[in-house]
Amino acid sequence: MCFDYKTMAISSLESLMEKWERFFQEYCKDKIESAALLYPEKKSLVLDYWDIDKYDAELGEYLLEKPYTAIFTAEEALKRIDVAGEAPPLHFRVKNLPETRKIEIRDLRAVHLGKFISVSGLVKKVTEVRPKLQDAAFQCKRCGAIIKIPQEENVLTEPAECYADQGGCGRKSSFKLLTDKSEFIDSQKIELQESPEGLRGGAQPMRLVIYLEDDLVGDVVPGDRITVNGILRVQARRTGKLKLTEFNKVMDAVSIEIKDQAFEEIAITEEDEKKIKEVSKDPMLYEKIRNSIAPTIYGLEMEKEALALQLFGGVPKTMPDGTRIRGDIHILLVGDPGTAKSQLLRYISQLAPRSIYTSGKSSSAAGLTASAVRSDEFGEGRWTLEAGALVLADMGIACVDELDKMSPKDRDALHQAMEQQEISIAKAGINATLKSRCALLGAANPKFGRFDEYAPIADQINIPPALLSRFDLIFPLTDKPDREKDEALATHILEVHKYGEMLSHEKDLEIDKIKPVFDPEFLRKYIAYAKRNVFPVLTEEAMEKIREYYVEMRARAKETVPFTPRQLEAFVRIAEASARMRLSNVVTAEDAERAIKIVEYYLRKVGIEREMGEFNIDIITTGITKTQKDKMRIITDIIRDICKETEAPAPLEEIVERAQEEGIDKATVEKLISKMRKEGIIFEPKHGKFRLTSE
Ligand code: ADP
Ligand code: MG
Repeated sequence: MCFDYKTMAISSLESLMEKWERFFQEYCKDKIESAALLYPEKKSLVLDYWDIDKYDAELGEYLLEKPYTAIFTAEEALKRIDVAGEAPPLHFRVKNLPETRKIEIRDLRAVHLGKFISVSGLVKKVTEVRPKLQDAAFQCKRCGAIIKIPQEENVLTEPAECYADQGGCGRKSSFKLLTDKSEFIDSQKIELQESPEGLRGGAQPMRLVIYLEDDLVGDVVPGDRITVNGILRVQARRTGKLKLTEFNKVMDAVSIEIKDQAFEEIAITEEDEKKIKEVSKDPMLYEKIRNSIAPTIYGLEMEKEALALQLFGGVPKTMPDGTRIRGDIHILLVGDPGTAKSQLLRYISQLAPRSIYTSGKSSSAAGLTASAVRSDEFGEGRWTLEAGALVLADMGIACVDELDKMSPKDRDALHQAMEQQEISIAKAGINATLKSRCALLGAANPKFGRFDEYAPIADQINIPPALLSRFDLIFPLTDKPDREKDEALATHILEVHKYGEMLSHEKDLEIDKIKPVFDPEFLRKYIAYAKRNVFPVLTEEAMEKIREYYVEMRARAKETVPFTPRQLEAFVRIAEASARMRLSNVVTAEDAERAIKIVEYYLRKVGIEREMGEFNIDIITTGITKTQKDKMRIITDIIRDICKETEAPAPLEEIVERAQEEGIDKATVEKLISKMRKEGIIFEPKHGKFRLTSE
């Protein structure tokens, strides 16, 4: 028998069912038996599309073209397969559709409606799982008969009359829904968003609403990368009570494939691999990669080198006791407006595989981490869990501009997201742990407009010190007039503009100056290859180098703490990234030196004790420098003396005068006084007069 699905009428449903039945009998008996055995823990027969296609290409084609009918008949046929006297109602789920059926969310059109297709993306939102009425039982208020109505719409369908063929009285009546006699099915709604790597720079990702039922629910969480094979259908849109003629596209899921492998989206051919390996041996590799990052931005060599290392990242470790140490390198750029921070972030977000660019200020409700809210619009009154930037950037880089403007909720959640690289949410019907295994690249502007190199970072940006200490590297970018640098920068920017103008009408123009050494596409492949295949291990020499430096720096410091164990981990991560960059499976002394060079550069810029010439990590973590501590001690002594001498609170002018004698200028005294007051060390019993809290 041969049938043409295009002309097939309902009468041939039976023949279709027979076709399925034969297929199941001949090829799937074992699978059906084991599925039936595991019922109801497992409720589906899951098949590969190509198994069906191999058996009967026409049947496969029919499934793709008329999926609702095909799946309905297949499920009916499944009930006829007798396995040990039982035939539980199994779902028929098909995976691995042909390439031609893989459609980008943004390319979904009316022709895809009612067809079996496959979409891939990132799970952005999921609702809690709720029971949905499937087979409703109604009781006739006139005769008491029970009438069953299958529910296919989102709104409740009631019986039109008390159907005589179901044993009812046959009259028009009113009905009561009997929930205990009705059948419910678990349902869940999710929102899938296009994967960032598929997007052309800056384009807004498109989204698709997908409905999951029964055994498909509860398996995906926001941030998962999945392929959903399903059927596209329309859903009426309403404004108030009016139905609109424009419909929404939604999908009914048939099967879900969760992707685990990072970077599988980036295809690397054998030819690519050859080139990658060749390039990795280039003695100028580090310079070349660095110079491939944002070539239109002048200077900032060390910052760019650090960003390059961040792209590769260190090696994450899971200890036997289950603790996980992150490999991702978190970097923060702080500095004056107009110092190319945003530019760098945008460049990295376009270069890095799997990355997200967002602003702390303008992020969606989910913000940087995640949110659980009862949502009317999406969740139809259900709790909805939504992924924020760090979850969406899982296995990539989250570039967050204006990090200082993030919401207080994110501020709290960010510690866990950065260190444990997961975000736990427990609220109402939702209890989930979302993964945020990404590197954070943040940018922040100073609170007071301009960055003061001589004041502690923690005082100048609106990010709590505890959070600052989670960053492996913090780079201040300052915009101070400097004749030589200004001239070079101006020349560079002007040239970039000139070339840009020329490029706009001379397509083939080759401009070495602003052309990256490696084009972004190749570099992306190189990074993906390294992250996928290279897991460097510290050598004895590298460990020795780092240990020596660490111990030496701590020993040299007198009262201050130059590094904490946290910095030690930063050294390791950066050294690993350095090894990875040249595809080396061992971290050598040279890699350790590169890490030391970069950490030292960063500490010199932010953590150095100017007067003493010593590093002091306290500047970052507590916002107090050693000299500040000393000065505070001097001021405390002065206040104590004055109070004792005069038996009254110490007037500010008097404190300033005496402090000046000790070499502390007026502005510093005033700043420290206000700081000490905030911290409760002193108080102001009368305006402009101070006392020690402790005496
Ligand atoms: P920020 O985010 O730090 O405030 P932007 O990234 O918005 O600054 O940069 C402002 C402008 O100045 C951009 O057009 C950028 O290209 C330019 N600019 C700033 N510094 C440099 C530099 N070092 N080289 C080239 N262009 C620069
Ligand atoms: Mg900016």
